[in-house]
Amino acid sequence: PTTEPGSALQALAERIRGVFGFDRLRPLQGEAMAAVLEGRDALVVLPTGGGKSLCYQAPALVKEGFTLVVSPLIALMADQLHSLEGHGVDAGVLNSVQTPEERALTWAKLHSGQLDILFCAPERLAVGDFFGGLVEAGLSAIAVDEAHCISHWGHDFRPDYRALGTLRKRAPGVPILALTATASPRVQDDICEQLQLRDPARLVGNFDRPNLTYRIVPRENLVSQALNVIQRHAGQAGIVYVMRRKDAEQVAGDLAAKGVRVEPYHAGMTPQKRKQAQDAFLSERIDVIVATVAFGMGIDRSDVRFVIHAALPKGVEQYSQETGRAGRDGLPAECVLFYSGADFHGQRSLMERSAAEADEAGVTTARVELEGNLERLGHMWGFAAGAFCRHRFLVEYFGGRFEVLPDGCGACDVCLGELPAEDDAQVIAQKILSCVVHCRQGYGAGHVTNVLRGAKLKKIEQLGHDQFTTFGLLADKSQAEVRSYIDQLIAQEYLRVSPGKYPVIGMTRSGLAVMKGEEQATLFKPPAPKKKSAARS
Ligand code: ADP
Ligand code: ZN
Repeated sequence: PTTEPGSALQALAERIRGVFGFDRLRPLQGEAMAAVLEGRDALVVLPTGGGKSLCYQAPALVKEGFTLVVSPLIALMADQLHSLEGHGVDAGVLNSVQTPEERALTWAKLHSGQLDILFCAPERLAVGDFFGGLVEAGLSAIAVDEAHCISHWGHDFRPDYRALGTLRKRAPGVPILALTATASPRVQDDICEQLQLRDPARLVGNFDRPNLTYRIVPRENLVSQALNVIQRHAGQAGIVYVMRRKDAEQVAGDLAAKGVRVEPYHAGMTPQKRKQAQDAFLSERIDVIVATVAFGMGIDRSDVRFVIHAALPKGVEQYSQETGRAGRDGLPAECVLFYSGADFHGQRSLMERSAAEADEAGVTTARVELEGNLERLGHMWGFAAGAFCRHRFLVEYFGGRFEVLPDGCGACDVCLGELPAEDDAQVIAQKILSCVVHCRQGYGAGHVTNVLRGAKLKKIEQLGHDQFTTFGLLADKSQAEVRSYIDQLIAQEYLRVSPGKYPVIGMTRSGLAVMKGEEQATLFKPPAPKKKSAARS
């Protein structure tokens, strides 16, 4: 503890070389370790595979006492423990599946100073004076892995993690290192607040994947659209993500009928069948796997050249994780998302319904979780239906900075100029926004659409909405077109939807700015009339 951080870091570099065999640190690993050695709190946000574990494992070797690592899954802890033991590191675990003898042995080692690292599940720390015992045994640092689990704004909220909020008070002098691979700035703030971090070093890595080209396309006919992408990559590996098990079966069947070497993969299959599909994919006997989101944990093919999403994912976190499976060899790969407004509206009512059920069943966190779920879905929708550079959006979503080149990123549909822009965007937007104001922000998208199209409906007459100056202003557009414009305006936060049984459309501050001509709205041309799509059958 008397050595300076600088020289401590140098000593550490040698230990890292000796123990782990790494000659060089990855980006931000050094900064994270320096924070731990200085006794400063830190939040580390690095992509999966970025090397988060080393940030706490290495300092634990040179620090006095031991480092507590909080991790959500027993299986993850076991993996890390084995790998550390393989490197000759003194590490242990305390969990609920151990025998009393095993636990007693670990405690004894801990008290006699034989362990550098101790793994533990969050719920243990809430039990009696378990944590007090750790402090007595020489706890000198705390690492919270998968730290986004503490935030209901995150995509994997775990009520157990909330217990970690008391650690700071119970061990005020012990530095806390929080680590995660997926945290928007809001989730990052929440992590810092919940864990009561003091002036933490915020170390956010680079999440950009420059070798991936992103495209987001309205869904018309999923199978023929997907086939198009697959044919661009004939004989190469790809993953198609679908929402439901039966979609996986059906889409795989449809693609197979077109000659694609493909298998479905989902949780409803027997373990044996799943393994067969997985083996076929890994051994290159098939090229394409059509999977529900559950897929992917154990599958590690680095030459995946394309990832297709058949429908809107629930959040940017999932999207980024799933597209992240493309091009892991660093070579170019393509990510195409096919979506429709119905995905968004359908997901939203599904979330609201299941929250209401959970609420009734007495799940106390159902409401806050719904809030987080809806927010993430809204961001995903904004990403899909909006028209910002996709690389820039993704990097900024996770709190990074992205330099926009004059010619764009060169690797997304927006920058490549593939989205047909609507020339009259501003005028169309103003008509729609005025109509929402006329409707006194009390009606849904369907009604607003009908008024704008001048529909001769009894309800409209009874309400007197056919007297509005905005009545029939978009009579030359189809219903689907007007709906698409409205969805795009919602996505860009010029309009907002208040949740509820009958979602109502309202104005936002930037919507008002567009009405006044202070801000310029952009819209792209809505897709051609929709045919029946396999993703929703
Ligand atoms: P994360 O937890 O961020 O997903 P890991 O900690 O599991 O990532 O590390 C991913 C892989 O990178 C591991 O195999 C690890 O051994 C390796 N690794 C970590 N740091 C370095 C480094 N500085 N040099 C080389 N390999 C590293
Ligand atoms: Zn771009």
